[in-house]
Amino acid sequence: MTVPEYEPVIGLEVHAQLKTSTKIFCGCASVFGDPANTHACPVCLGLPGALPVLNRRAVDMAICMGKAVNCTIRDKSIFARKNYFYPDLPKGYQISQYDMPLCEHGWVDVRAHGTARRIGITRIHLEEDAGKLIHDQDADSLFDANRCGTPLMEIVSEPDIRNAREAFAYLGALKRILSYLDICDCNMEEGSLRCDANISLRPKGQDIFGTKTELKNMNSFRGVEKALEHEIVRQTELLDSGQAVTQQTFLWNAQKNRTEPMRTKESAHDYRYFPEPDLTPLVVTCERVEELAQALPELPQARFERFTNEFSLSTDHADVLTESRAVADYFENTVREGADARAAATWVMGEVLRMLKEGPRDPALLKVSPKRLAAVLALVASQTLSASAAKRVLGHIEERDCEPEDAVESLGLRQISDTGALKRAVREVLDKHPAECERYKAGEKKLLGFFVGQAMRSTKGKGNPREINRILNELLN
Ligand SMILES: [Zn+2]
Repeated sequence: MTVPEYEPVIGLEVHAQLKTSTKIFCGCASVFGDPANTHACPVCLGLPGALPVLNRRAVDMAICMGKAVNCTIRDKSIFARKNYFYPDLPKGYQISQYDMPLCEHGWVDVRAHGTARRIGITRIHLEEDAGKLIHDQDADSLFDANRCGTPLMEIVSEPDIRNAREAFAYLGALKRILSYLDICDCNMEEGSLRCDANISLRPKGQDIFGTKTELKNMNSFRGVEKALEHEIVRQTELLDSGQAVTQQTFLWNAQKNRTEPMRTKESAHDYRYFPEPDLTPLVVTCERVEELAQALPELPQARFERFTNEFSLSTDHADVLTESRAVADYFENTVREGADARAAATWVMGEVLRMLKEGPRDPALLKVSPKRLAAVLALVASQTLSASAAKRVLGHIEERDCEPEDAVESLGLRQISDTGALKRAVREVLDKHPAECERYKAGEKKLLGFFVGQAMRSTKGKGNPREINRILNELLN
C-alpha cells in the first residue's frame, strides 16, 4: 500500500493593533500598560445612547497597508455588528466589517528557504478590540475596559501557504511592512500583533480542501511555526489511520509544546452580522487613496531589491539590513558619508547591531553616528587602524560621545605606517631570530607569517601589516 502524501493548506488571520493616539470610535487614549479602567467612556462601554465616531487616522493607516500589499481599496465599505456574548465585551457585539471590507484582493511576496512565493491577501478590514479579563489567583476575574475600542486591522491571507516555514516568512514580511509604515508596534508579547491560523491537509494533487482546524493563542513567530508543524503531524496521523479531521479550534500551549482543544468553531451565521446602524457607510475618495499612496515610504521589498542591485549586497546581507527601516537608513547614511557599501554592510551587521542590542535599540540614538562610522571605516581603509583597533575605537566613541580622531589619539591606536620606524622594528625581529632567518632562506617560506607576528607584537599591534610584509620581503630576499 502506498502512503498518501499530504499537502498542507494554510491561511493566516493577523490582527495588527494600529498606532493611533486615540481609540477607533471615541476620543479615549489608546495606550498599553496604564492603570485599569482609566481610559473608558460611554462609547467604550456601549452605554445606551452613546454613539461611535470613526477615527480618520485608523482608516488612513488601513488604506496605507492596503496599498502596500497591492489591495484594491473599496470606495464604499460597511461596518457591521458581530454579535456574541463574552464578559470582556460589555456591548454584546463588536463593530467590525463583514461582506464589504475596506481593502481586498492583494498579495505580498515572501522568501522562504531561498525561494520566492506570492501569498494572496483576501481582505483587510477595520474593527475594534474587546476589553481584557484578568484572572487573579483567587476565584475572581477582573475586567479592564482600557482595551475596549482599540483599533485593530485584520489581515486575512488566501490559503496559499504550504508549510510552517512559509507562514513564518509571511508573518515576517507583514511585520516589516507594518513597521516601515510605522502603523503598528508589532509586539506579539504585548498583543499588538496577533495571529490565528486555519490549516487543513489534502492528498497532493487534489484540488478540494480537507476539513480545517483553527489554531489560536500563538504569541510569537516561532510559536506559529511550531504550532503549525505540530498540527500537520496530528492531522497526518489521523488521516493515515483512516480517521476524519473534525472542524475545531485549538489553543497552542507553548510550555507543553502541544495544542489543546478549545471549542467547536462557530460559523459566520452564529454571529448574526448586520450593518452597524450607528455608522454611515465609509466612503473613501480616489483622491484620498492617491494622496496616501504617494506618501508611502520605500517598502521593504523594494529596498531589499535596491540594496542587492545598487550596493551589490548578497541577499542574506540585504535581508538583515532591511529588517528595520531605521537600520536600513543607518546603513544607507553611512554609505552616503563616503563608506564603501560592502564594508559598511559588514560593520553595521556586526558591531552596530551588537551595540544596538546592548544599548539604545534605536540607531538614531547611537553616539556612533553614520558619519562617525564612515570616518572610522576610512581609517581602516587607509590602514591607519586595524580591524580590531577599529572595534575598540567604536566602543570608545559610544562610551564618550567623541569624534573618531580623538578616540584614536586617546587610545593610542594609530597604526604605524612610518617606514623608518617599522624598518627598525623588523630588523630587531630578524636579529633576534637568526636560526629562523637561515631556515627561511633555505626555503621554509611559511616562516614569513612568524616574522610578521613578531613584528606586530613588538609594535604592540600598531604596525601596518601590509607595510611590515613589504619590508620583510625586501630585507629577506
Ligand atoms: Zn472611549
